[in-house]
Amino acid sequence: QREQAVAEADQPAMTLDGRTVEVLVNVGSVQDAVDAHGADGSGLVRTEVLFGDRRTAPTVAEQVERFRAIAAALDGKPITIRTWDIGGDKPLPFLPQDREANPFLGERGIRVFRRRPQLLRDQLEAIRQIAVETPVHVMFPMVTTADEVAWALDELGPRPDGLEVGIMVEVPAAALRIETLAAGLDFVSIGTNDLTQYTTAADRTNSAVAPLADGLDPAVLQLIDHVVRNAGVRVAVCGDLASDPQSAVLLAALGVHELSAVGPQVPLVKALLRQTDLTQVPTAEVLSARDAAEVRQLVRR
Ligand code: PEP
Ligand code: MG
Repeated sequence: QREQAVAEADQPAMTLDGRTVEVLVNVGSVQDAVDAHGADGSGLVRTEVLFGDRRTAPTVAEQVERFRAIAAALDGKPITIRTWDIGGDKPLPFLPQDREANPFLGERGIRVFRRRPQLLRDQLEAIRQIAVETPVHVMFPMVTTADEVAWALDELGPRPDGLEVGIMVEVPAAALRIETLAAGLDFVSIGTNDLTQYTTAADRTNSAVAPLADGLDPAVLQLIDHVVRNAGVRVAVCGDLASDPQSAVLLAALGVHELSAVGPQVPLVKALLRQTDLTQVPTAEVLSARDAAEVRQLVRR
């Protein structure tokens, strides 16, 4: 089954009802991009992972070179570069952070750079440079308010033709106000790992509460549905939910346009989409389901 899926991976994921869903790959290294089969580009380049082994900050030129290698490995298809997403469980040696009582609720993602923007400015310079050569999307993590979006766009400055700009939707407040936050953007990308953590108030790194942090919780799905209906721009999902073929089919049925999965899952997600009539997925029942277990039953059927 996997062999067949890999053999067909380069073909588009067109569903039985005729919708083509873009399936992209999440990468944290150039090798991830080299190993990807059939991805329609990268929906998430985790830059803090890409340079996570560094003791000192990479130069603009070093960042450009690494982005160029990822784009080349994906045959020049679009790559979505996420700006430094540090804090929470992700320290970065070259940007020391203060100790916090609640790191996941503290200076994380874009919040880190309001006080000291230089590292972000260098990264945005690298992104503007690579965007002249190859199709690039840039997105900002952990956005909560419209003011943060305005600040990020200001930091990005004049953008080269073709550089698309978006935000990640990982905070329930951002999901609920998506109409305002997404105005003027090209796309939004839902990070279901964090959106689930913040919706269920269950730490994604704490196995004791892992059953609560279920991306198929109807509360999370209702937020995703709200985003799809109100964003007014292209909606992607790059959290782990998009890597599970059945969940990915559900996301597509809810109207998500783009899914970004871990490399080995890309062919499997595409294969299941090709076998599915999205109009047959009982989305209304799923959204009003009692819990994640009931959602799973409905989707399996
Ligand atoms: C997410 O939160 O779903 C996401 C894709 O970002 P990360 O897992 O890197 O926090
Ligand atoms: Mg996240």
